Amino acid sequence: MTAPDDEPNLSPMEAAEDYRRQRVESEAKKSGVSTPSPQELADLIGLNRTSLLSSIQALGASPKEAGELLDDYVSAVAAEPDRGSGAEANIQEILGKLLRAVTAIAPDTGRDGVVFGPSGELNLSASERTIPGLDISSISVGYGLPMLCHLTSGLLAHSFATAEGLEADAEGAMARVLKDKVLLNHWQRLILYCAWEGMPPPRAGWSLGISPFFREQYDLLWAMELFVAAHEFTHHAQSHTVSETSAAERDPNIDEEEADVGGYLISRRSTSSAPNPFAQSGAGAAAVLCVLDVIRKAEFALVHGEGEPPPRGDHPATRDRLALMAAVDSIEGDATSRAYRDAFADFFDLLWESLKPLMLAMRASGKLPKRNDDGGDGGGWLPL
Ligand SMILES: [Zn+2]
Repeated sequence: MTAPDDEPNLSPMEAAEDYRRQRVESEAKKSGVSTPSPQELADLIGLNRTSLLSSIQALGASPKEAGELLDDYVSAVAAEPDRGSGAEANIQEILGKLLRAVTAIAPDTGRDGVVFGPSGELNLSASERTIPGLDISSISVGYGLPMLCHLTSGLLAHSFATAEGLEADAEGAMARVLKDKVLLNHWQRLILYCAWEGMPPPRAGWSLGISPFFREQYDLLWAMELFVAAHEFTHHAQSHTVSETSAAERDPNIDEEEADVGGYLISRRSTSSAPNPFAQSGAGAAAVLCVLDVIRKAEFALVHGEGEPPPRGDHPATRDRLALMAAVDSIEGDATSRAYRDAFADFFDLLWESLKPLMLAMRASGKLPKRNDDGGDGGGWLPL
């Protein structure tokens, strides 16, 4: 790997991007992943145009709108520069859009900027690292994280749907899941795959259909991913991984609390084209933190049987992270935002109670998941 300061002809941003790209290539090689180039991805979308158009129309778009939406998307993907092996253009495009939204809201950092993209790893991680020798951070996500957010937002939109809309009622949602075997099966499949493989299930076999509240589902997806991007960006803004400030005496839990507060404040101020209640209330943040928490519990049960995973060494407990958001609400004079957050957190607790026997039965059958760690921090595979 070439160190950035060995490339005197590159600007700092070019050197940072060059360094990041080499890391992705090397990680992707280790993971055995090869991804299509932006043009190959655009071609693939072209080949599936008819079925994609009918899916978009099923969401309520007219044939003309569907055509325009798909064309815009294909041009956005095809316009991504080819960043080499492992650089998944779809994730690159999503992260770019999120970070543009974040930097439009976040105060000026005084630093030189960020480069971003997939990490090259088959996992559910998100991370921020300062690039050695530069005042630039690399923000990256594992290949599985965007798909986990996508599938979770879809399942939540189905689980919380009432005749009036998505209602912040955890028990009502859980009752719906237990009554609807297809919905329950999809939740089981999602959590089990993520705990077992470290990756969400393949699309094949996904048969839930479109939520009647697609707009809300889309807002929730955006809110989940926006919180991830805003949390990582706050690590950058606060120079958490600049070497002088990340000395051994630094408490990583405090960095995480700062990143959560920053991520939540950015989410609260996000409006994009229309207000997004899931971003502004922190419900997207709760959804992504809580689904990762259930996956961690599931993995622990698969490996160790009974009991709860021990606290993570470098991240506060999920309920403490949500309590911190409630403290932000008090400062902001907001008495209503916590309703959705609490409903999602309670729902995931109920969901875990219903999934736990399944995980313990699998454990009793003697099978172990692929990533059999020591149960300490749950591994570094959920380092949001
Ligand atoms: Zn973090």
